[in-house]
Amino acid sequence: MKGILIYAEVESGRVHPVAFELLGKAREIGEKISGQVWSIILGHEIKDLASELIQYGADKVFVYDHPTLREFDVIRYKEILVDFVKKFNPEIFLIGATPLGRSLAPRVAAALRTGLTADCIDLRIDENGDLIQIRPAFTGNILAHIKTKSRPIMATVRYRVMEMPEKDLSRSGEIIEMDVPEIGETGLKMLGEVEERRVNLAEADIIVAGGRGLKSKDDLKMLEELASLLGGVVGVSRPLVDEGWISKDHQVGFSGNTVKPKLYIACGISGSPQHLAGMRDSEIIVAINVDPSAPIFRYADYGVVGDLYEVLPKLIKILKNAKRSDNP
Ligand SMILES: Cc1cc2nc3c(=O)[nH]c(=O)nc-3n(C[C@H](O)[C@H](O)[C@H](O)COP(=O)(O)OP(=O)(O)OC[C@H]3O[C@@H](n4cnc5c(N)ncnc54)[C@H](O)[C@@H]3O)c2cc1C
Repeated sequence: MKGILIYAEVESGRVHPVAFELLGKAREIGEKISGQVWSIILGHEIKDLASELIQYGADKVFVYDHPTLREFDVIRYKEILVDFVKKFNPEIFLIGATPLGRSLAPRVAAALRTGLTADCIDLRIDENGDLIQIRPAFTGNILAHIKTKSRPIMATVRYRVMEMPEKDLSRSGEIIEMDVPEIGETGLKMLGEVEERRVNLAEADIIVAGGRGLKSKDDLKMLEELASLLGGVVGVSRPLVDEGWISKDHQVGFSGNTVKPKLYIACGISGSPQHLAGMRDSEIIVAINVDPSAPIFRYADYGVVGDLYEVLPKLIKILKNAKRSDNP
């Protein structure tokens, strides 16, 4: 039976949710190619996390639990993954396109002398049973459909582009505790952890995003006020980051974050393919733009043709009044 292997990244003691999304996709693929879904997890004191991977769709979970794996060491982790793949020969190996996954996957692929399709936004099985890996190309202007001849087929997949499967507490599977191979000093040493990013756009439910329709950095305050009234966060198009108005972790799009909030309010954003690549799967898109022909309106559920400097203050006023009448 063909194995579809999912790398389960551990982040602050929990499984990164991209692994659950990948398990959901792996189950779908498994049904089409009669494959079995496997997951591999590395770290220390992580045995409890294995059952969660089964609940999200893994048939087998291979656990490498050892004090030397407590911190991410790209060389040590790579060695273990390569060793595993050589022994178990999965047909497909999927890794989340997180910063950690992006550093690990190419090293594993190079060591295995196989191909890697980075940053996929979708995976499909075609009529011949081949895996089609879909990713933006030419700065997001086209979606390339890629087939890989070498094995295993390796791909990294962006977070929040796949459906999150339902957790099924009644699912059963096999948890296999693996012997951790002895690997000497790798030359890498953890010096300390960088403070967590200030905004986590990928997990936000509400994003108020601004683009070049804003006239000055100061006007971002208006977006911040609206976002805070709605319990959301601020996102931006790339030019605002390039201008130095706000940090890159707020950028939405092809070279920024992929987001999938319940509500995305795009203010003064034209809707370039590179911006759309990062937000078009949002549940509800509201666009505010003076130009009725702006491409963003083709993707918006609600469009306001108007000046954001008139629309936003009105919206803020209405929300403030509503809050006041809720808490007299
Ligand atoms: C390799 C590469 C990667 C890229 N990656 C990204 C990325 O990750 N994210 C990203 O966003 N871009 C990215 N870009 C840039 C992208 O091509 C566009 O240039 C950018 O998205 C445009 O940003 P914008 O919509 O804010 O600006 P514009 O396209 O200039 O649009 C501004 C909009 O504001 C409207 N407007 C003006 N005044 C007002 C007003 N007062 N009220 C309401 N509306 C108003 C205008 O009608 C216009 O539609 C990338 C480009 C390249 C080449």
